[in-house]
Amino acid sequence: MKLKHIVLWYGHNYKVNGIFDPGATFKNLKEATEVYNTVHLLKNYLEAQGYKVTIIDTRNMNFKSQKEAHEKIGEMVQALGADLCLNIHENDGPETATGVECFVHSTNSKAYPHARNIVNSISSTLGIRNRGVKVKKDYWTFIYTGDVPSIIIEGGFIKTDVYNGILTIETYAKCIAQAFGTVEDSKDKDKAYRVQLGAYSIRNNADKLLKDLEQKGFKGFIKSEVVNNKNLYRVQLGYYLVRENADKMLQDLRNKGFNGFIAVEEIAEKEMKNKSEYIKKGDARIIKTTPDNIYISILGDNLKNKGVYGINGTFFDLSTAPVTSPNSCVFIAMNNGKALSNNASINGYNAPPRGTIIYYEDGTLGNRKIKNIKELSKPAKWVIGGYTVKPYMDFANEKMNSGINYKTAHSYIGYDSKGYVYLIVKPNHLVQEIVPLLNDLGIVQCILLDGGGSSQLNHKEGSYHSSRKVNSIIGIKSV
Ligand SMILES: [Zn+2]
Repeated sequence: MKLKHIVLWYGHNYKVNGIFDPGATFKNLKEATEVYNTVHLLKNYLEAQGYKVTIIDTRNMNFKSQKEAHEKIGEMVQALGADLCLNIHENDGPETATGVECFVHSTNSKAYPHARNIVNSISSTLGIRNRGVKVKKDYWTFIYTGDVPSIIIEGGFIKTDVYNGILTIETYAKCIAQAFGTVEDSKDKDKAYRVQLGAYSIRNNADKLLKDLEQKGFKGFIKSEVVNNKNLYRVQLGYYLVRENADKMLQDLRNKGFNGFIAVEEIAEKEMKNKSEYIKKGDARIIKTTPDNIYISILGDNLKNKGVYGINGTFFDLSTAPVTSPNSCVFIAMNNGKALSNNASINGYNAPPRGTIIYYEDGTLGNRKIKNIKELSKPAKWVIGGYTVKPYMDFANEKMNSGINYKTAHSYIGYDSKGYVYLIVKPNHLVQEIVPLLNDLGIVQCILLDGGGSSQLNHKEGSYHSSRKVNSIIGIKSV
């Protein structure tokens, strides 16, 4: 029988005795949110391949027990008379577990070859472990879907594959769709979509709306702009390359009593006039540039003295080696594919994985928690280590030295969703106080660099000076 009608069932996302089931959670990540969005994107891909696709919408349902939830949803799947049911999850497990696995009722199930294709697609595309297709005869999902061939997909582990940005909504949806045909990108390459809920001339009003959003479980941000010489604070949410996903989010918001519309942004960037841009926002100094304009090297002096443009680099230790020596660098610092020294190939001696910004040779940027440059998944042009600030601060797990986060100057490197890199110095603040500025700039990934007296930034249009000699720098090749 030819496969025509596919039912998508996102895991969790319903209430049991009035309590919403979020699935696996880790930091700010919720399995329920991830798979919900994945399923909606997957529907677009599968429909483009010519399948009829139905999503089982469980978000407003309430059940007496998990068993009843599976029973009732199973009945809905059967009533649709579909050819295949995909029940989509993210795995929970220890922080060392990684990889994709699928479950089927039996190796004789018509679902079995599709499950094989799915694990192979995810594992080979994302480079994560293939844990195979497993048979679980007595899982409720299989009992209650009856004759409809069904697959439980566990695309990866939330604490590793998802948290490290390898299994994302986009990659998850794409990899599953690839198991059923070729994937055409349905996005309009020049446009991005955000949901806008309000625009205010008074910051306080925008803050209030944002708070209200957060209390109802949405993650918004405030975008400040100057329009006709007046401040304008827009409260927005999301960044979608597929219009339908923005529409879905807007629908969700409307269901929760918010009003809004879809704001369309041109991605086609006006080229930056120069190779870099100097921005002053409040007391913060910022250099915006492209990743190919960056280099990492040892300076052993202060930036102004040497007349170089850029920002101080990562942490160094004068008891290990003098400031002018590459061995003084005790966090990852790598340029042209090579660590600046042995000590610069690890994020601290005997330390846990720490936030690391990577510019890969294939032109993409990444932020991954690693201990050692050996963990890099592909060749990199430059790499710099520190402590993760965005998407989530995780200073306890990253074992941040207690002497680092006090009210002083701090330095950062981050990037936005369009691939621009930002070098930032802000005086006199606690690290957590940098977040509003990062949100304003649209920075989605960011790490903390060395700070205090080491914080310094130099550009021909402005600077933040400190007389301390710093060990490494993140330099810009041309201004
Ligand atoms: Zn699950």
